[in-house]
Amino acid sequence: MARTVLVVEDEPKILAVVRDYLVDAGFDVTTAADGRAALASARAVTPDLVVLDLGLPGLDGLDVARELQRRSPVPIIMLTARGSEVDRVVGLELGADDYLVKPFSPRELVARARAVLRRTAAGAGAGGAQEPFQVGDLEVDPGRRRVTVAGRPVELTATEFDLVAHLAGQPGRVFTRMQLLEVVHGVAVESYDRAVDAHVKNIRRKLEPDPHRPRYLLTVHGVGYRFAE
Ligand code: CA
Repeated sequence: MARTVLVVEDEPKILAVVRDYLVDAGFDVTTAADGRAALASARAVTPDLVVLDLGLPGLDGLDVARELQRRSPVPIIMLTARGSEVDRVVGLELGADDYLVKPFSPRELVARARAVLRRTAAGAGAGGAQEPFQVGDLEVDPGRRRVTVAGRPVELTATEFDLVAHLAGQPGRVFTRMQLLEVVHGVAVESYDRAVDAHVKNIRRKLEPDPHRPRYLLTVHGVGYRFAE
């Protein structure tokens, strides 16, 4: 069954290229040129993934992302015009699952779209039937892609879940930012490694009783991160 991707972009050329590549890759594609149209389309087609330009006229990409996530969680790949916007995007409270800085390769976008959908689908089918495991009072259920702390469910984006599951799956083991990037993107891209820090910041805010004194997700200075044993 073809997955539906909603592409939101106000630049007609970029919109057309992205749409064509995604259609060629076998996706059903719906497009919108502004935020209001995007929200209406999302309601009508219930997309599996949203490719969302950050800089939209009127209702901007952040507003659209917030509203989409408020309705029901959907994976989002953000398109940003500048690398300097990346921190803003991944530092968001709701978090984008991935992002690309313009100009980007449409092939790369297709690869990212597949990767995000693979990750989010892993929990939906029987294929993702990994056993739940516990680290202290934190429980990770890979099959349902759910995390609870002391029985309290924690709302994580697909990317945040992947990082937590990976780190908590081997408590005490140190992972470099590049290794964690591979978890997220399937490939390490050096210039994006600060994105891992932003994801970690979001995860801590959601997971930790005191995000400034993390108990679970610990920093290994000069190296990366590890999960407390
Ligand atoms: Ca734009």
